[in-house]
Amino acid sequence: MPDLPFRLLPLCLMFALSAVAGTSSADNQASAAGTAASPAPSALTKPSAPIASVANAALPQPGDDFFRYVNGNWLDSTEIPADRNAWGVGHALAEQTNQNIVKLIEAAMADPNTRGDAKRVADFYAAWMDQAQIEARGLAPLQPLLADIDAIKNKTGLATMLGSTLRADVDPLNATVLHTENLFGLWVSQGLHDPTRYSAYLLQGGLGMPDRVYYLEPAEKMQKLRAEYLAHVTAIFRLAGLDQPEARAARVIRLETALAKTHATRDETDDMQKANNLWRRSAFARKAPGIDWAAFFRAAGLETQPQFHVWHPGAVRGAAQLVAQQDLASWQDFLRFHSINRMAPHLGRAFAEQHFAFYSRTLRGTPEMPVRWKLALNATTGALDNAVGKIYVERYFPAQNKARIAAMVKNIVAAFERRIDAVDWMHPATRREAKAKLKVLYVGVGYPERFTAYDGLEIVRDDAAGNVMRASQWHYRQQIAKLGKAPRQDQWAMPAHIVNAVNLPMQNALNFPAAILQPPYFDVNASDAMNYGALGGIIGHEISHSFDNLGAQFDARGRLRNWWRTADLAHFNQAAQGLVTQYASYRPFPDLAVNGQLTLGENLSDLAGVSAAYDAYRATRATRGSAAEELAGDREFFTGYALAWREKRREAATRAQILTDGHAPAQYRTATVRNLDAWYRAFDVQPGQALYLPPQQRVRVW
Ligand SMILES: [Zn+2]
Repeated sequence: MPDLPFRLLPLCLMFALSAVAGTSSADNQASAAGTAASPAPSALTKPSAPIASVANAALPQPGDDFFRYVNGNWLDSTEIPADRNAWGVGHALAEQTNQNIVKLIEAAMADPNTRGDAKRVADFYAAWMDQAQIEARGLAPLQPLLADIDAIKNKTGLATMLGSTLRADVDPLNATVLHTENLFGLWVSQGLHDPTRYSAYLLQGGLGMPDRVYYLEPAEKMQKLRAEYLAHVTAIFRLAGLDQPEARAARVIRLETALAKTHATRDETDDMQKANNLWRRSAFARKAPGIDWAAFFRAAGLETQPQFHVWHPGAVRGAAQLVAQQDLASWQDFLRFHSINRMAPHLGRAFAEQHFAFYSRTLRGTPEMPVRWKLALNATTGALDNAVGKIYVERYFPAQNKARIAAMVKNIVAAFERRIDAVDWMHPATRREAKAKLKVLYVGVGYPERFTAYDGLEIVRDDAAGNVMRASQWHYRQQIAKLGKAPRQDQWAMPAHIVNAVNLPMQNALNFPAAILQPPYFDVNASDAMNYGALGGIIGHEISHSFDNLGAQFDARGRLRNWWRTADLAHFNQAAQGLVTQYASYRPFPDLAVNGQLTLGENLSDLAGVSAAYDAYRATRATRGSAAEELAGDREFFTGYALAWREKRREAATRAQILTDGHAPAQYRTATVRNLDAWYRAFDVQPGQALYLPPQQRVRVW
């Protein structure tokens, strides 16, 4: 998805993409590098290091603030680099990984024998680094598109243009990309009810800001952002040399505000039952009148697709009405602005800086633009993610890691299965279905079974923006070519060089990319306690997503099907409600609390994940040690867990995260340990301490 201004954030991922992405500008993959000041990862993984790092009298007691107890020295002595909106262990690891990748790309550029996809990567990167060439071309790569927009004569022409710009740039369940500047976004995945075929999903879009709340909330902070956005849209029109930039910007924002009113909220988007709408193509004209749908689908190459899952029916209806009601000139300005805005990071300096100023500085609080190579790598990954991943693992992923991590996964799955067996409230029929899901779970470790080949994609060394547009189109054609065919469970959704992990609920599959399988998350030289606390917590988290409030709605084959007995589901929901309340009580700012419902899936997965990882760790201890040794091991396990969450984030980025992202801020995710009895024993946590919960208030779901 190469041409997004930013990607919104994941439900089933381990981390918010913004947490590990370098900027919130162009095509964020969770990959961009940071600058300077990264803590040496190896220092974090020596078993003795965390214990030593907490011997500071100024730090709180573990029972009062466990996140700060483990990470306080680091928090007090670390500055977020100026080109980042957050910094932590994941960022440091991504930084190091990216430096390694860029050396490989530079070697490929210098080698006259580089061929195939490696050459595409090298040429894409080289074109992006060639700023003189980019300045010289100016807006030329966009001129054909802008001329087509100028030539729109009527609403059928408008529908054709809207259809021809449709891209496969959203993904509500896997990577959880919910934002597109196009009027709609397309996602291709197996059917909600038919796992034997790839189906088409249509999602809402058309906003330049991240979510409807940015347009509609009366809060002063939002009013200020709206004024900044108006200034940004005006500036883009002015840079493009169009007359009356203020009037055009006002029209674009009026149209977007009308669209925003029809958009589903972030919570509604997460509700599978509301997303479960299958429309026949022939029914669109009746269900959502106002767009010439025949022209739209023909231009999108979807004229033979018999039906669509309409994730946001209200927004599709609303957009169609606005196409009918609003004048053509407003829609043309809307199309002009978004065509330029989405490509701005890939154009000359003035466009890229304007884009950064609004999307990264204003919306996310990042003071400085990253240096060129980081942006170039980010863009290359956005366009050619699997090709970059392949270059990385060929050089950097040791085969023995794969076996050792696969064994950890097996142990944690077994621990989770024992938990399913042990819950006393579950009917045997529900239990059988839950265990069937675990039995056929696909666990990908390191890299995909097959790498995507980019055959037919033309990448040239002197056309950075053209490369981005061709890659986006190529990706779209690849995706729609899959429609109607049989899905593969082992199809990966995340490239191998990304520091993150993902659960794919419909595929009943997990992906653990090679880049997260390194210190400090996993270290062959660290103790089991540390590895199970850090990486084990992540593995457990992803397994548990299959049984969170979203995952539990899909069966072993990935069908949206209720396999729960009523009483079991009621018990599950009641336990989950305890977690909603617990997280809603966290208030990072006086005027903003964590959204307990929006973050529920992640919090359920954190809780079940660390519980299963803890069980698996205990099971690996073949012989029982003395009580003191056991406690020391448990302390190390929980310390490893809290170290994996080490992170600082700017206020603007934290606020954006709370409004739009399913992941709670890191300090609250760490605090999930307050629901585990073993943590109380390990750190002698007592009533009266801030994190203390009486046993009956500790949430136990699995
Ligand atoms: Zn997650």
